[in-house]
Amino acid sequence: MTTLIYWFRNDLRLADNPAFTLACKNATRLLPIVCQDPQANADTRWGFCRVGVHRQHFHAAALADLHAQLAGRGSALLVLPGKAQHALAALARQIGASGVMCEAIAAPEEQAEVAELTAALSQHGIAVDAVWQSSMFEPAGLPFPLERLPDMFTGFRQAIEKAGVLPRAPLPAPAAIPPLPDLAPSRDGPDGALELPLEMVDARSSFPYWLPAFSGGERAAAAHIGRYFERKLAHTYKATRNGLSGIDYSSKFSPWLATGALSARTACAALHRFESDHGANDGSYWLWFELLWRDHFRFLHIKYGARLYRARGLADASASPPRHHVKSFQRWCAGETGEPIVDAGMRELAATGYLSNRLRQIVASYLIHDLACDWRAGAAWFEAQLIDYDPYSNQGNWLYIAGRGTDPRGGRRFNLHKQAQEYDPDGHYRTLWSQP
Ligand code: FAD
Repeated sequence: MTTLIYWFRNDLRLADNPAFTLACKNATRLLPIVCQDPQANADTRWGFCRVGVHRQHFHAAALADLHAQLAGRGSALLVLPGKAQHALAALARQIGASGVMCEAIAAPEEQAEVAELTAALSQHGIAVDAVWQSSMFEPAGLPFPLERLPDMFTGFRQAIEKAGVLPRAPLPAPAAIPPLPDLAPSRDGPDGALELPLEMVDARSSFPYWLPAFSGGERAAAAHIGRYFERKLAHTYKATRNGLSGIDYSSKFSPWLATGALSARTACAALHRFESDHGANDGSYWLWFELLWRDHFRFLHIKYGARLYRARGLADASASPPRHHVKSFQRWCAGETGEPIVDAGMRELAATGYLSNRLRQIVASYLIHDLACDWRAGAAWFEAQLIDYDPYSNQGNWLYIAGRGTDPRGGRRFNLHKQAQEYDPDGHYRTLWSQP
């Protein structure tokens, strides 16, 4: 009899979840859990709650979906209040588990959680196995060792394309899920999707997550990706991807990718199926290109780890420390800087939890290079607000714009006037978000 605990983290899905599949194969009894640390919502050092309301709602829906799917297969998702290293460690001992399996996350806080859990359990002979699985490519499938990962995205992409390697095919959901252990605490699963206060529903949203089609969870993700390719939107992706507002200008895969409701391999396999059925063009190629960016930021985390979380990032010791102005930062967060394109973007972000890539770049550049604020404060604000918050992509993009990451041009400063002219020539977006 082998009792295992599967700890869901940023991998809230059953299909193409190699760690979960392995746990199902190795266990005779399996307890799927998710840890909810009440401290996770505490204020950051920048003075606001770490997980904002939009993220909380989207995440709750993803948990509810996972629980429903597990319950449909005779299992359940136990919500464990507390930090993994305390609550999960105690539970593992209580039910006599022989091991804990989970997804590996290569960001300092998430790695510390696993290290502390491992330390707490090793003295009881309980193993913790964290499996890397959130990239399209597995590290071993790359045409170079990770220590030689090209720091520049272009070098990374060219090396992959030159070698002609592809990510492996996604796995199906496990055929059967082992029953719950007899000693499993009889608690309810997640409360279900949180009820959204009416004032949070904003018809201007580009990602209306309160509608079933955009709700968190694996089943909504699968339906969305199916519709996206059926409507052949990938063919026009390159032409529309710099849009600022609306549902269809970009794929909108990110909130599901970030929570793990959708795996990057599944997205990639659907894209390649689409190309073989309907033909590839520069639009479909560009979607692959962007998914490669996502992988690159993940592998940079494995290569550089905590160095990406220093104030100077990867810059050398002579780099000046970031400056910061609390008042300017607060005005930026509230969409009250006086710059219409920036304020419109910041209002959309606060009102909906989503923002186009173009506007993310514009508002980040403005905060760092015009308001001379600390890029880490901006990254923390995005972390709180974005329903697609992903540590790798968020940290990587903020460092890139700040010129403290791997940008060959040493940072990106955007000219607001030019950006507004090019991407919002008729002022439609600025008018749409002229009010909070
Ligand atoms: P699409 O344009 O349809 O792209 C398809 C997929 O490619 C995306 O879902 C995403 O997985 C990947 N992708 C696209 N652009 C990027 C990029 N620049 N970097 C990494 N992956 C990319 N993305 C997140 O998922 N989470 C974040 O926390 C996040 N923070 C960001 C912070 C800043 C300052 C900036 C400039 C960008 C950030 N991005 C982040 C990247 C990008 O803005 C979003 O991935 C994209 O806007 C999501 O919408 P989409 O799924 O419609 O993207």
